[in-house]
Amino acid sequence: MPRRAVLTVPVLVDVAASRRELFGAQAHDVGLEGALRWARDRIAARVPGYVVTLNGSLLVQAARDPALRALVNGAALVTADGIGVILAARILGVPLSERLAGIDLAIALCASAAAAGHRVFLLGGAPGVAEDAAAELRRRHPALQIVGTRHGFFDPQEEEGVREQIRQARPELLMVALGAPRQERWMQRWSAALGVPVSIGVGGSFDVLAGRVPRAPRWMQRVGLEWLYRISREPRRWSVVRTIPPLFLMAIRERWRRRAGVG
Ligand code: UDP
Repeated sequence: MPRRAVLTVPVLVDVAASRRELFGAQAHDVGLEGALRWARDRIAARVPGYVVTLNGSLLVQAARDPALRALVNGAALVTADGIGVILAARILGVPLSERLAGIDLAIALCASAAAAGHRVFLLGGAPGVAEDAAAELRRRHPALQIVGTRHGFFDPQEEEGVREQIRQARPELLMVALGAPRQERWMQRWSAALGVPVSIGVGGSFDVLAGRVPRAPRWMQRVGLEWLYRISREPRRWSVVRTIPPLFLMAIRERWRRRAGVG
């Protein structure tokens, strides 16, 4: 007897209810479980979209630059990656409680992909780093299907080749480690055209997974001091931290303005 075709209509997890706004840029208060559920549903529905993990530095840039703001607001999901974003929200009186480090989300997405049989592609990092990160992810999740890797130092004339490699690999999850905001610009430009359901900017996560850069001790992660550890290891990151005092000043000024009923 012929099998009856079952028509399933995937329903996208609606993150609209958890949408918050900080200086005109969106962030979703979803937490890890919410983000994973969202990604699974997105993959089932095969609707392409990109995820921005918003830290304080990117938030300041987005507040000042309308093009970057559009990029953040064009994301299907924006998670609050960084204590700076959470504190700015607190000053502004915006209920945003869930801090979700990009690397934790990336690793959890891979665990979820391994369980569901989803295909994963790693784009970015110095030559060899994505491969080592892939090996580490496979060690943690032997069932994980990593269908391709590509380093992130390509010229504009190599771009099309990189996209073709991704297209042929047909990933459901694309992790993009090109540094912020280049990775966000790249995803905004290409994630829909590539048809990948979930693309996520993961910054320096491949370096950590590959063992090139150590992660902060757990207690520092817990109390929100991961940024301090990263600066101690990579002093060039001071330039990023310099954006945090202006972020707090902007938040305080905005709060005063609201109290005074201006604007
Ligand atoms: N990266 C890359 N191509 C570039 C610039 C950077 O693949 O043109 C990689 C870099 O090797 C690193 C990752 O992007 O693995 C994140 O870089 P960074 O730590 O500067 O970014 P952040 O974590 O501050 O977003």
